[in-house]
Amino acid sequence: MTKRIFLSSPHMSGNEQKYINEAFETNWIAPLGPNVNAFEKEMAAYAGSADAAVLSSGTAAIHLALELLGVEHGDTVFCSSLTFVASANPILYLGAVPVFIDSEEETWNMSPDALKRALEEAQADRKLPKAVIVVNLYGQSAKMDELMAICDSYCVPVIEDAAESLGSSYKGKKSGTFGKFGVYSFNGNKIITTSGGGMLISDDVDALAKSRFLATQARDAAPHYQHSVVGYNYRMSNILAGVGRAQLEVLDERVKARRDVFDRYVEALGGIEGVHFMPELEGTYSNRWLTALTLDPDKVSIKPYALMDALEAENIEGRPVWKPLHLQPLFEECRFYPHAEDDVVSERLFSEGLCLPSGSNMTVEEQERVISLLKEYLLN
Ligand SMILES: *Cc1c(COP(=O)(O)O)cnc(C)c1O
Repeated sequence: MTKRIFLSSPHMSGNEQKYINEAFETNWIAPLGPNVNAFEKEMAAYAGSADAAVLSSGTAAIHLALELLGVEHGDTVFCSSLTFVASANPILYLGAVPVFIDSEEETWNMSPDALKRALEEAQADRKLPKAVIVVNLYGQSAKMDELMAICDSYCVPVIEDAAESLGSSYKGKKSGTFGKFGVYSFNGNKIITTSGGGMLISDDVDALAKSRFLATQARDAAPHYQHSVVGYNYRMSNILAGVGRAQLEVLDERVKARRDVFDRYVEALGGIEGVHFMPELEGTYSNRWLTALTLDPDKVSIKPYALMDALEAENIEGRPVWKPLHLQPLFEECRFYPHAEDDVVSERLFSEGLCLPSGSNMTVEEQERVISLLKEYLLN
């Protein structure tokens, strides 16, 4: 069997070992330590935010962001529907109720029209959400200007789920820095990885200090162990933060490599009728974490699932576009606001979409293998 081509696999820089060795030599194996502090400072500097708190996962970062915004049992939280379940699971951890917002065509992300309608109705019901979670899918920034203006007009804070868009920017400003809180993930398949981990970023230094407190079992300032509120064990270890520091050094290179992968796909397949690549909104710069495309069912005979199976038969990993959360059994009871009455964009993207292998460590030869197989099916 030929070597497997993954959707997105970890890509080490070689410098990780240096930071890990330092931690070993100084015996900073204990959870916190110099790599943790340095990784936070370096990430905040990269993003251009006042501060950052490094955590055990992106999911933990979303959980703490919601908690810091005072989300409680029975509250509502709005969330993009076209996303990974981790965007919304923390809403359930807090006993709050998610309301899902559809995508729009130009970014595949949250539709300002749908958001506006949802907030108007919430206002009329006298139950505004405690937060809006805006996701930047596959590296593409949502329409942040429009979304922020709408949320600001209702004084509802935004959490930017930038788990997939680290290294992207919107009108020159780094992805993740638009809302009250931004969230990054360093899971194994993300653009940079610590094997598992996440970051909460914000300009509110006090809120981030509180997030660190909550993430370390909420210990009050007393030499004996004293606790007044519920805490979590959500901090990243000093060893993994060392991996993160080395990965951050090569982030911009990784972004460039993924954009090159995207460009090669477009060059080879962009001319085929009915094949549409995920757009990049003017004024934005996507990290192209995953190359995603849609197949117009009127023009392309093969369905995305069948194409994925054909790739799999050749040991190549493809994936459908995220199944919208409002279609998930877990969220069956939740409300959903479509882009327009007769147009559910996220459902169409789900049924027509496919993600292609996009790793920054995929060789040109490997990509050629993927491309020639795709051509075989798409041109017939
Ligand atoms: C990966 C991901 C997360 C969760 O990150 P973890 O670090 O795996 O917990 C959240 N939201 C989106 C959109 C993601 O892709």
